[in-house]
Amino acid sequence: MALSFRGGIALEETKKSALLAIEAIPAPAFAAVPFSRKPGERAAPVVQPEDRVLRGQLIAEPETENSVPVHAPFSGIVKEVCTDGNVGAIVIENDFKNALSESVVPFEKPISKAEPEELCEVIRAAGITDLGKSGVPLARRLQKAQGKARRLIINCVESEPALSANFRLVLEKTQEIVNGAKILLRATGIEKAVFVVEKSRQEAAEALMALCGASPNFKITALKSKYPQSADRQLTEALAGKRLSEGQTPLDRGFFIIGVESVFAVYQAFVYGLPVTERVLTVGGDALERSANLRVPIGASFEDVIRHLGGFVQKPQVVLSGGTMTGIAEESLKAVVGKETGAVIALLQGAEDREDSACIHCGRCVKVCPERLFPLYIARFSDQNQWEKTKTWDAGLCSECGCCTYVCPAGIPLLKKIRLAKENLALPKKGV
Ligand code: SF4
Ligand code: SF4
Repeated sequence: MALSFRGGIALEETKKSALLAIEAIPAPAFAAVPFSRKPGERAAPVVQPEDRVLRGQLIAEPETENSVPVHAPFSGIVKEVCTDGNVGAIVIENDFKNALSESVVPFEKPISKAEPEELCEVIRAAGITDLGKSGVPLARRLQKAQGKARRLIINCVESEPALSANFRLVLEKTQEIVNGAKILLRATGIEKAVFVVEKSRQEAAEALMALCGASPNFKITALKSKYPQSADRQLTEALAGKRLSEGQTPLDRGFFIIGVESVFAVYQAFVYGLPVTERVLTVGGDALERSANLRVPIGASFEDVIRHLGGFVQKPQVVLSGGTMTGIAEESLKAVVGKETGAVIALLQGAEDREDSACIHCGRCVKVCPERLFPLYIARFSDQNQWEKTKTWDAGLCSECGCCTYVCPAGIPLLKKIRLAKENLALPKKGV
């Protein structure tokens, strides 16, 4: 029987994009490569306008432990270095020569002879984060897990419904991902890796089984297709059969969870010496001419991505960075693909446009909440600006999965109200 967690929502299977092989978009004329300027996550540019840069060259270096190096996605000329706000950007004009930096060199030593610290240093220098999730540097997480983690959990499940980039990556890059997992086992000192796949994506399980099913170091586990199965807390609950209590992390159960795209990035860093300069994402939505799983240079604009797909069938009401459940509405198509952009979705009608009415106390939001909260009460007190009361109803434990909003028959934007409460309580936002 496939494993699962309590709460959440079973969603209609949307296999359409799962059938689409990953395609690369043509290199754009410009990239605006983002780098963090948030306190505690700051990176500092090491290039200036008119500098020539090569593909894979370091263009911003971390200033704090929670930031990562940033690299040029192609060769060209730096046109601008923007340092306004929490996210800066280094704008590079493509020279279409795709000249590689001399810093891009494979790791020469056999992995079995390398020390974990050496491996972590390669991962750090390649700018690999928790791709598609929090953006925390992977090397930092690996160092914290050494000696504590007993299982390497490779999350091949999509973070949101209707996405399929992880599935395609497993299917098309199976050997690379298994090899990346071996490097991570050595870097953490863990003996066994568990690939978790959705039960409905049997082909992914079969591809992995064919390559590593016979090895005692690997296991393939199927999870029931349910949202938010990919979230670390729900994944841990499904695998351990026991929910994490408040403040606990997967490491408290001995799990080190990593997304499959980060595992692929680790492989690329060791075998080709390539830092993170591109990512695979699903692009879709009813406003688009067609959907696709695309490989996109970091810093390419949403406009570049959408143009490649033939543009819009009709003007979208909203373009999301991320999936339909937790994606953030972008104001302009000049928004760019960053290391954490898992999807771009263009919709003719946004969820916030639905007409809402009074709560009918049906209890559906409570039933689906994977964190066992009472979203209706948090939302009610949020409406009344009674922030302390939202706290007593545990607004801070909300993982912002959006399940409550999705099921509410009254169309109440519960998550929006809960986020407002969290902002007023100055609680950290959480991603799934
Ligand atoms: S968004 Fe928050 S309150 Fe709503 S279902 Fe998810 S965890 Fe529960
Ligand atoms: S799902 Fe909507 S209508 Fe039902 S109890 Fe929750 S807030 Fe009220």
